[in-house]
Amino acid sequence: MNNAVDQYQDIREAVRDLCNQFPAEYFRKVDEERGYPEAFVDALTKAGWLAALIPQEYGGSGLGLTEASVIMEEINRSGGNSGACHGQMYNMGTLLRHGSTEQKALYLPKIASGELRLQSMGVTEPTTGTDTTRIKTTAVRKGDRYVVNGQKVWISRIQHSDLMILLARTTPLSEVTKKSEGMSIFIVDLHEAISKGMTVRPIPNMVNHETNELFFDNLEIPAENLIGEEGKGFRYILDGLNAERTLIAAECIGDGYWFVDKVSQYVKDRVVFGRPIGQNQGVQFPIARSYVNVEAASLMRFEAARRFDAHEQCGAQANMAKLLAADASWEAANACLQFHGGFGFACEYDVERKFRETRLYQVAPISTNLILSYVAEHILGLPRSF
Ligand SMILES: Cc1cc2nc3c(=O)[nH]c(=O)nc-3n(C[C@H](O)[C@H](O)[C@H](O)COP(=O)(O)OP(=O)(O)OC[C@H]3O[C@@H](n4cnc5c(N)ncnc54)[C@H](O)[C@@H]3O)c2cc1C
Repeated sequence: MNNAVDQYQDIREAVRDLCNQFPAEYFRKVDEERGYPEAFVDALTKAGWLAALIPQEYGGSGLGLTEASVIMEEINRSGGNSGACHGQMYNMGTLLRHGSTEQKALYLPKIASGELRLQSMGVTEPTTGTDTTRIKTTAVRKGDRYVVNGQKVWISRIQHSDLMILLARTTPLSEVTKKSEGMSIFIVDLHEAISKGMTVRPIPNMVNHETNELFFDNLEIPAENLIGEEGKGFRYILDGLNAERTLIAAECIGDGYWFVDKVSQYVKDRVVFGRPIGQNQGVQFPIARSYVNVEAASLMRFEAARRFDAHEQCGAQANMAKLLAADASWEAANACLQFHGGFGFACEYDVERKFRETRLYQVAPISTNLILSYVAEHILGLPRSF
């Protein structure tokens, strides 16, 4: 099965060639060991794929979010999991669009060469969840530094990154006119931070996804690490969140194709009651429907990415692409597991691993309910529910 040939075939084929060097056994082993796919991420970095968004003047390839989304899609479609490295792609947008010339000159060439990894973004907090404007982590300016106190949760890839984009309140909520004001973003050197006020507690979880609780106790960050203007961080981070939603939509699309390919082959080969199970329409229809939904989600992903690349408003499309793609991949995952029968539960078929991995995207980076509430309120003009 192959989706329509598009203008990104060169990228698709090159990423597939690289991914072919890391077959299912590789990712299965990494999953079993709860390890990090270091060799895979290194190979992606060396081949320049994780620097796709960095302009050529800084050593990257100057591609757009559209191409980045195709790269992520192909990784997941090949059976891998972009979750190990997608942070660099969406964090890049924040630095590129809002970082100073000095910050870009300092970080981008090193990120492009692989000397530094920018894989982490610290937004979510344990007591506020999706209600981001109520975050309690504060950054208080003291001379040439900001002093950070508070706590974050579910912050991914800290142990495999050198840098993190951190969102903190610089003006108390009670002192701002709009709740989205008074937050700022910083670039944090993780190696420095770990010895100077930031504690990391890993969270074992259902997926092989390195994620952590972070505690800040008077962590000092140099004032020059503030990105953009103080107090405008929420607006800046929204760009990053739209990029993240679009890229994760692409990953779900890659997963969706993987499930559809996998189950289509299996139901052709598996003979029960004297005929391939795929001859039964009760088996065909859920698979066919999943394919239709993955294809439709892919179109919305391209529209979100096109708008992002054109610097147009893309919040609605990024959210809708994420919802459609996460639902399509989850539907495909269920069909794939169901028609593998008992074998779907055996690790050696990789279905249960991909099933766990794609389930995450009903919740993170934004849950389906919150997307629906965004559409209801901001697109349909329904009364605000919270
Ligand atoms: C493996 C993993 C990796 C992650 N990585 C990162 C990371 O790197 N950086 C980061 O900042 N965050 C990260 N997150 C956090 C993730 O973005 C949040 O878990 C997600 O946004 C949901 O927030 P929450 O868990 O606080 O859920 P809550 O906000 O507590 O919501 C719980 C449930 O209630 C529902 N709900 C809440 N409010 C409403 C409402 N008003 N109407 C209807 N339904 C509602 C939601 O849909 C959700 O299903 C990660 C999470 C996971 C699980």
